Amino acid sequence: MVRELDSVERVGVVGAGTMGSGIAQVAATAEYDVVMRDVEEAFVERGFDSIDDSLDRFVGKGKLNETEADAVRDRVTGTTDLADLADCDLVVEAAAEDMDIKQDVFAALDEVTDDDVALATNTSTLSITTIASATGRPERVVGIHFMNPVPVMEGVEVVTGEKTADATVELAHDVAESLGKTTWESDDKPGFVSNRVLMPWINEGIRAFDEGVATKEDIDRGMKLGTNVPMGPLELADHIGLDVCLDATETLHEELGDRYKPAYLLKRKVDAGDLGKKTGKGFHDYD
Ligand code: NAD
Repeated sequence: MVRELDSVERVGVVGAGTMGSGIAQVAATAEYDVVMRDVEEAFVERGFDSIDDSLDRFVGKGKLNETEADAVRDRVTGTTDLADLADCDLVVEAAAEDMDIKQDVFAALDEVTDDDVALATNTSTLSITTIASATGRPERVVGIHFMNPVPVMEGVEVVTGEKTADATVELAHDVAESLGKTTWESDDKPGFVSNRVLMPWINEGIRAFDEGVATKEDIDRGMKLGTNVPMGPLELADHIGLDVCLDATETLHEELGDRYKPAYLLKRKVDAGDLGKKTGKGFHDYD
């Protein structure tokens, strides 16, 4: 049996980066108590800064008032100690996209949390089944794949591993809906639905730029106007983080072959530390 939504009051979030801080924020906005864990105090603080910035934007747009924003912030506590997630009723992991890290985190969560607690991962491309194999509860491991930026994007992809129980899948949909999200479901195949289709689009945009097909501005403008999407491939890659795009594309390349080979320029940018919006420079420059 898995602990059901009615019994979920306290949510653990592992990783306080782009996604973890966003997940903590939406969970706290939905009035869950949240414990957000990262490996260093500075990373936890950076997560709180992201939450504060995002809440300020919500207040600025009149979607929350100051009191509500303060209450959201107060419902999140930060920690560097995984043991502080011991009394959580659900955990969502959003640590780095690296199988060894995720398996270590899940093995530790398996030790720390109660047996009936569901452990969810926000992985973009890694196998839920492989992550779950690090635990003694694979039937309670599931993908809850939020989109970036989490407080703004409505969609959530629920990913079912080989051993994920139906009740856990149902809980994942219920949890996402309780956060005001709308879900779709994918089997545990490389990249699921979203990144299997998105990453080659981004990768081809980078190749087109590298091969001189058009300027970066025209590639973005052409795809925005031509296909009615809010961001072109290069702008979206900067927004996601070029390191995250490279990790995802490398996983797809490994699993699905050469049609997913990462563009040379994507690797070069990541090697240079130009990771997109988060470092102030990717394909475009940001203040
Ligand atoms: P990020 O680099 O912004 O944040 C990752 C955080 O995890 C960092 O703060 C890092 O210190 C922390 N971390 C690393 N090891 C840890 C551990 N053992 N315990 C706790 N924290 C640890 O990355 P992100 O963009 O937030 O991505 C996180 C996850 O979400 C990845 O699996 C990624 O594939 C997935 N994801 C990312 C996006 C996106 O657009 N960025 C979208 C959907 C899913």
